[in-house]
Amino acid sequence: MTDFHHKKSLGQHFLKDKNIIRKIVDIAELQPGEAVWEIGPGMGILTEELLERKSKLTCFEIDSSLYDILEKRFGKLLNLIKQDVLKADWECLLPDEKVKIVANLPYQITSPFLFEVSRFADHFSKVVVMIQKEVAQRINANVGTKDYGILTLKMQYYFDVKYEFTVKPHVFNPPPKVDSAVISLMPRMDKPIIENEKYFWHIVDISFRNRRKMLRRNLRELISIEQIEELQNSGVIDLARRGETLTEAEFVTLHDLLKRFN
Ligand code: SAM
Repeated sequence: MTDFHHKKSLGQHFLKDKNIIRKIVDIAELQPGEAVWEIGPGMGILTEELLERKSKLTCFEIDSSLYDILEKRFGKLLNLIKQDVLKADWECLLPDEKVKIVANLPYQITSPFLFEVSRFADHFSKVVVMIQKEVAQRINANVGTKDYGILTLKMQYYFDVKYEFTVKPHVFNPPPKVDSAVISLMPRMDKPIIENEKYFWHIVDISFRNRRKMLRRNLRELISIEQIEELQNSGVIDLARRGETLTEAEFVTLHDLLKRFN
């Protein structure tokens, strides 16, 4: 264990505070025998607590120099997937039952990982993750703020988001340069009905492509100038606004209006 070298490129900031670990796991409200995914067990500090709570645990770890340590420590108790979680075949690995995710995420994969989680949102009953505070604020942002964007809309569309608590760098070894935060995501029960979700997210994507530009300008990528005029004249949404000022409900309205040009 002593000859292990932390790899910055893999976001290896290991937790050293058992109280924080217990707080994270408490938020997950685990029932014995429940399926849990941990991303990046590292040396296994969170893993140990998850196993103590009798969860049926699957861990994804990319760093092969940790496999021996983890296998010696936990043996058969652990289903260790020796792979990059972003390259793993989730479709195959997800069980029939619902899964909870509990993880101190490697920060460099936060956004792609959470987008992947939202793609498989139906499979998860709760997600509790430690991420960079700045990203947690983006996920939890209100419309019209600088933090509000695609990540906000996506996560808040699929989940009820809760900013749980802020975590200071000194509880990690080595300490990261920035503050962290634990957030929880619960599947949302009152999702709006969207006829064509793919098209909806395409519209959101285009609306934020040039953040400082008006919708009228950004939508040119999607429809003709004449169609933009027609939309503006319908008076439902003022296309002189910027994407970052539109609520989820307004994006749904925009989608419903744009659908006829699709
Ligand atoms: N869970 C441990 C803890 O709390 O001390 C370690 C957390 S550390 C922030 C992130 C862990 O994720 C590291 O063990 C790192 O090797 C692993 N990791 C980094 N990128 C990964 C990826 N793409 N897929 C799976 N594991 C990854």
